[in-house]
Amino acid sequence: MRKPLVAGNWKMNSPDESCTKLLQKMLEKTHVIESMLKTMPNAEVDIALFPPSVYLKDTQEILSGSNLQWGSQNVSAYNEGAYTGEISAAMIKSFGCTYVLIGHSERRCLYEKLELDQHILDKIVAEKYCRSVKNGLTPIICIGESSDDYTSGKTEEIIARLLDILIEERGVKELAKTVLAYEPVWAIGTGESATPEWAQEVHSFIRQRIAKHDPETAESIRILYGGSVKEGNAPAIFAGPDVDGGLIGGASLDVEEFIHICFAAALKTG
Ligand code: PEP
Repeated sequence: MRKPLVAGNWKMNSPDESCTKLLQKMLEKTHVIESMLKTMPNAEVDIALFPPSVYLKDTQEILSGSNLQWGSQNVSAYNEGAYTGEISAAMIKSFGCTYVLIGHSERRCLYEKLELDQHILDKIVAEKYCRSVKNGLTPIICIGESSDDYTSGKTEEIIARLLDILIEERGVKELAKTVLAYEPVWAIGTGESATPEWAQEVHSFIRQRIAKHDPETAESIRILYGGSVKEGNAPAIFAGPDVDGGLIGGASLDVEEFIHICFAAALKTG
């Protein structure tokens, strides 16, 4: 059984004072969830927070020694050099990060404005993936279709294209060192999540596509769903057998709501 993971992407929210407060509050609440989980023998969940990068040092200081993990919202595709504003995988690792988000659609759209084609964008994601794994980080690789692609039935094509590039880049076994996040772009921050049936269908497609190369990797890799997950819809979405938790944006800024979502994920194994 795969251990569920819930990742909270704080995006560019939270000013200085409240970011550290939010971290403290999360920490307090996870003690509550831990004691609740102790009463349910098999229930378990990994929880990771993604604050803006300038708070990674605070995050490390506050969360070190706890069961909470953390990561960066982005990583450079390069090791070092003249890349103003970028952060390397080694720098991210030095702040105790376990994870890094890669290919989030809100970043992809910055490149899309430069009119880079999708294949090049997927290649950049693959380079970031390589860089992260080489530096001991676990990438959470976002994958998902735009609204237009959804309505024209291209979801599987979009997903297969990136998966194939990732597998080509480092082989299928390396993919086991990552987490995938299916994030339909039309569901991010819109309040309109995918139905549990749709999420499960796409997750199953992803797993089957990987299984064609290596059934063991397909069985072990965690695939998260992201896109307007809330306390209310989390249990139904997480019930899908191929859904291993969630990547949560807006709702991760509300401690109570986020903890309920984490609890819903933990119940998958409980
Ligand atoms: C996200 O930022 O990855 C996300 C899924 O956001 P939201 O939960 O707000 O839709």
